[in-house]
Amino acid sequence: MSRILENKVAVVTGASRGIGREIALSMAEEGAAVIVNYNGSAARAEEVVKEICDAGGKAEAVQCDVSDFSKAAELMDYVVKTYGRVDILVNNAGITRDNLLMKMSEEDFDAVINTNLKGAFNCMKHIARQMLKQRSGRIINISSVSGIMGNAGQANYSASKAGIIGLTKAAARELASRSITVNAIAPGFVKTEMTEVLSDAVKEAAEAQIPMKHFGETKDIANMAVFLASDKAKYITGQVISVDGGMAM
Ligand code: NAP
Repeated sequence: MSRILENKVAVVTGASRGIGREIALSMAEEGAAVIVNYNGSAARAEEVVKEICDAGGKAEAVQCDVSDFSKAAELMDYVVKTYGRVDILVNNAGITRDNLLMKMSEEDFDAVINTNLKGAFNCMKHIARQMLKQRSGRIINISSVSGIMGNAGQANYSASKAGIIGLTKAAARELASRSITVNAIAPGFVKTEMTEVLSDAVKEAAEAQIPMKHFGETKDIANMAVFLASDKAKYITGQVISVDGGMAM
């Protein structure tokens, strides 16, 4: 049976765990060679690579702090030199530093913007020339329901995720004529280490806001990422697709 990402090269940022890990595994399952980017979790990134290779796929773990402009350039240069092309970029790396606006430090605001928003910009900027040369490419940015609706205690995170939406749409307009699509996925609450730390009270309050009444699975997000990366989605660009159990409708 033919796989929908056969012979594609995919870079997934923040793929050592959570949603990024699932996207990496799912893209590899569909035939892509996957660059499993991570920042600090080397052993976990290697586990993802092993899982892919054990299943007969192709993957490599590459450390890079995507918030660092020149390091992101090095990552993309390395991938292009090694693999000759980049078909898919998934900007998934993300952090939270939650606090009420009144209590939020400048450091926590900057850290979240630098990783979540500038990190995506850095990776897109450094791969755009290659994709333009190829006259093809798929960029998938992971936004959030918080970027659409706002969320108390997440001024930095909501701003970064709303920023991702503007970044996605501007880049989609710039790159569309060369058959490069740029889309965002806006997950709702998904079961990962990021949401594991929430108190039971916060989790219950969140579930009450979700029409489907439960958190999503990482696979729910990965399925959408695989679809957007495939030829089946070739006429979709500049869109923000919510995968959130109905939360942001
Ligand atoms: P997670 O389990 O905390 O994993 C975050 C990933 O990002 C890790 O692989 C981490 O790598 C990587 N990362 C963090 N900073 C990085 C940096 N500077 N450079 C490179 N990689 C970095 O988070 P998750 O829940 O899977 O979330 C993934 C994405 O989905 C994030 O953008 C998040 O905002 C978004 N999202 C999540 C939810 C949710 O409910 N979980 C909802 C909406 C949107 P290391 O471990 O190596 O540091």
